[in-house]
Amino acid sequence: MIHNAHSGRIYDTAIVGAGVLGLWAALHAARRGEKVIVLEKRKIGAGASGGFLGALMPHMPDNWNAKKQMQFDGLESLEHVVAELEEQTGIDCGYRRCGRVMPVTNEKLIGQIERRILGAKDHWQSKYSMSVSNASSLSPELNPEIATHGIQHDTLSARINPRQYLMALGFNVRKSCDLKEGADVVSIEPASDQVDVVLKDGSRIVAGNVIVANGYEAYELLRPFMADMNNGKTIGRGVKGQAVLLEYKHDDTMPVYYHDGSYIVPQKNNRIAIGSTSVNDWSEQAPDGFDYNNMDFYHRAIQLVPALKDARIIDRWAGVRPRNTLENRGTEPFFETVPGQKRLHALIGGFKITLGIAHLERNFS
Ligand SMILES: Cc1cc2nc3c(=O)[nH]c(=O)nc-3n(C[C@H](O)[C@H](O)[C@H](O)COP(=O)(O)OP(=O)(O)OC[C@H]3O[C@@H](n4cnc5c(N)ncnc54)[C@H](O)[C@@H]3O)c2cc1C
Repeated sequence: MIHNAHSGRIYDTAIVGAGVLGLWAALHAARRGEKVIVLEKRKIGAGASGGFLGALMPHMPDNWNAKKQMQFDGLESLEHVVAELEEQTGIDCGYRRCGRVMPVTNEKLIGQIERRILGAKDHWQSKYSMSVSNASSLSPELNPEIATHGIQHDTLSARINPRQYLMALGFNVRKSCDLKEGADVVSIEPASDQVDVVLKDGSRIVAGNVIVANGYEAYELLRPFMADMNNGKTIGRGVKGQAVLLEYKHDDTMPVYYHDGSYIVPQKNNRIAIGSTSVNDWSEQAPDGFDYNNMDFYHRAIQLVPALKDARIIDRWAGVRPRNTLENRGTEPFFETVPGQKRLHALIGGFKITLGIAHLERNFS
């Protein structure tokens, strides 16, 4: 533990950002017996984690690699982790392993899907499968004019209610850590034996280690330490997305549907979320401002499942997720110690899968 006579604050670990990654990092550190503080600029779940889409979709199981294995481990274990969290907190996180359906739109895809089916057999531990079948048998709601060559179905995909999930995580974090909302971290000053975290109001928090988990805003916060890694540029950028929530009567047996960048996610209590996250140029817009002129994702989804056409939109949401652009590493998550800074660590999700992997414990060494 770090003792600092001037700060009056003594923490083993300070975490920047109370999204799904920051909250899990805090819980893991607290379970290891560390004294932890979470610093959140706005409030828990104010970032990309706090929406209502909640798709938990695996990467395709062909061309297997370490990233796909890590994601599989996350998706496989989350079911039990959430059950435990619900028991501890009494909060229903709306988890269901509902599977995913994607339309097969042309014949050329069949060979690729056959490779995926074999990959699923090899790598999904015989518990989950991928298959291709006639659309009408498994998914009568799907538009046959889009699913012209059948459907691809997997049994590993799941869904969660992100806001309930974040509420449950926040509940546990409040019990085991200090949490400061409204704490805007403006800079980080690492030294050999401690790290100073400087807040906008001029105050400082001193900790032994700092984990930066503030979503896409981590790129700017870490720029002073990481510019060398990507030819002077930040190691990623924010990608905006938006979603709508529909009221639609269903018996909660539907799968997640995915096509052409749009997700349709059945949620509990007769709700269906539709969304996508691919707007790269949003600099003129507020990060969380819903753009009414960008409803293509919704129209694409309605084309795919026409029965949703008359369902009332009851909520709208927009957010910005991090997208890593480090050369040679694509959109892979960046869960590492910052090069040359042994006490400063980064948790940057990087793609659209963070909700399914955030709970995995990471060792920074
Ligand atoms: C529309 C949309 C739909 C998505 N759908 C899915 C999905 O279905 N499934 C899935 O797995 N992923 C999905 N994602 C991606 C996923 O939500 C994000 O990748 C993930 O939530 C990021 O979590 P995080 O904890 O890294 O960041 P965030 O949830 O963004 O949390 C970062 C937190 O840090 C705080 N913060 C920022 N700057 C500072 C600072 N300087 N000081 C203190 N605090 C700060 C923010 O206020 C925020 O609360 C979606 C993203 C979007 C935008």
